[in-house]
Amino acid sequence: MDRCCAIGTSSGSCSEIKPRRWVSASDSAKILIVDDSATDREFLSYLLGHSHFQVIEAADGAEAFDLAITEHPDLIISDVVLPKMNGYEFVRRLRAEHSVAGTPVIFYTAYFNELEAKNLARDCGVSLVLSKPTEPEKISRTISEVLTAAGTLKPNEDLGLSDHFDDRYHQLLTEKILEQTEALRMSEDRFRLLAENATDIIFRFRLKPRRMWEYVNPASQTILGHSPNEFYEDPELLLKIVHPESHERLLKYIGREPYRATHAHIRFIHRNGNPVWTGISINSVTDDSGNIVAFEGIARDITERIEMNEEIRRSRDELELRVQERTCELERVNKELREFTFIASHDLKEPLRKIHSFADQLKRNYAGCLEDEAVDYISRMQNAANRMKDLLEDLLLYSQVNVAQEHFTEVDLTNTVCEVAGDLSVTVEKSGGSVTVSELPFIEANETQMRQLFQNLIGNSLKYHGPEKPVVKVYSQGCANGSCTIVVEDNGIGFDEQYLEKIFLPFHRLHGRNSGYEGTGIGLAICRKIVERHNGRISAKSTPGQGSTFVITLPVKR
Ligand code: ADP
Repeated sequence: MDRCCAIGTSSGSCSEIKPRRWVSASDSAKILIVDDSATDREFLSYLLGHSHFQVIEAADGAEAFDLAITEHPDLIISDVVLPKMNGYEFVRRLRAEHSVAGTPVIFYTAYFNELEAKNLARDCGVSLVLSKPTEPEKISRTISEVLTAAGTLKPNEDLGLSDHFDDRYHQLLTEKILEQTEALRMSEDRFRLLAENATDIIFRFRLKPRRMWEYVNPASQTILGHSPNEFYEDPELLLKIVHPESHERLLKYIGREPYRATHAHIRFIHRNGNPVWTGISINSVTDDSGNIVAFEGIARDITERIEMNEEIRRSRDELELRVQERTCELERVNKELREFTFIASHDLKEPLRKIHSFADQLKRNYAGCLEDEAVDYISRMQNAANRMKDLLEDLLLYSQVNVAQEHFTEVDLTNTVCEVAGDLSVTVEKSGGSVTVSELPFIEANETQMRQLFQNLIGNSLKYHGPEKPVVKVYSQGCANGSCTIVVEDNGIGFDEQYLEKIFLPFHRLHGRNSGYEGTGIGLAICRKIVERHNGRISAKSTPGQGSTFVITLPVKR
């Protein structure tokens, strides 16, 4: 290890400092130095060597205890934080061992441990606490005082430091220590300033050797309503102000197993009684043996965010409930409507059938008695009844589009449309026209409804033709962005595009019976319903006398 670094790295040469582990003088006091830092041991050893003390070194508490028993030192200078056995435990065992119980002990520890060390020192009868780094002269003076008090040295006995200590070395060490102290202080000031001004709570909690808050920044006052001092005074304050619902979780996150940064949402109760949600990131700090000795972390006030999320969740739940209620209501109304339509169409068809059959009987039984005009009236009456029956049946079909089972399968549209064309072959033959079906895509759809859709469109194209024979073409315009476009094109009478919207409404007809085209005006309304139920679109282009083009866009997958 580069010793220079451990003493001070910033400037100055340390080539003149010579290592010296043992200095023995049989008539001088024996001092045991206990420190896990080799550099610190070396420094003390060098210093005490110049004062003609016998020096023994130990790197941990256990080794120190063994050496104390065998060597019976006159004084022990020990660090507090030590491997294997900490300084506190070391001194406690020392005091319990009769042969060495009275040995004076000085704690020599990092200055940030000073407060803790002083408390421990008081508890276990340690003479004094020196914080690292301390000037060599003060160390010598303190040692002299402690040894004098213990009767090892006579009062005012000169340690010989001024005679033997190399002035240059003394000066060099002092400068280095001052320099290092200053650098450390500046660095600490910088970090302290950052922490003191942070809006999040920054904390460090020590578990061993005693539970205590090592640091809490002033943000604790704003976020939790408790000042840092309140935390320092009460190590269990956090557990006292945690919301009962978060208590278990907080314990879990500051549990016993070693772990790295863990994030948790913990709820506390502010001094004013309001709940405070915090997002806490906790790091556990472990010693060389892997035992957790402290926690450090940051806690951010996330109350606003959590409350907003809660509000959003509440609104969403409320909305979902409303949608559910509306859906239920809609389903109920739909069901009633379906039942009504079904019953109405059935019940209405019955009197129509009667009108038809009585009209037939009239014609048959009174054939000779009826004047031609009366027979004509009866025939018209029968036509009207038939038409009424057709209207009722179409109405029923229309109302059932939405009721059909959600039975979606992969449909080979080429096959389906070819079958539809086959079903219409009689009409095609009668008209002398033709229906051509090009390659169409496979899509996920309700096959029955696809059949119904193309039956209506091709049927219309065959029906609304002029003097020319109907030529109907069904082809695909390809698929893009998950949708495919299919066209049904004819060379028929066409229509005025300003009525485009109307032809898709139920019972709207542009070419009535007077123009010689039979129909109820429901077909295209059914087409639109089917296409929309498949999340698609239907539209048309046409010019009177120049045929029509119906364009359907359907998703390839549901
Ligand atoms: P229907 O054919 O029973 O009258 P539709 O709902 O199928 O009912 O059609 C509505 C109206 O749209 C028709 O009355 C007709 O005026 C017009 N129409 C539909 N298809 C065509 C077509 N291929 N060519 C010209 N007009 C059409």
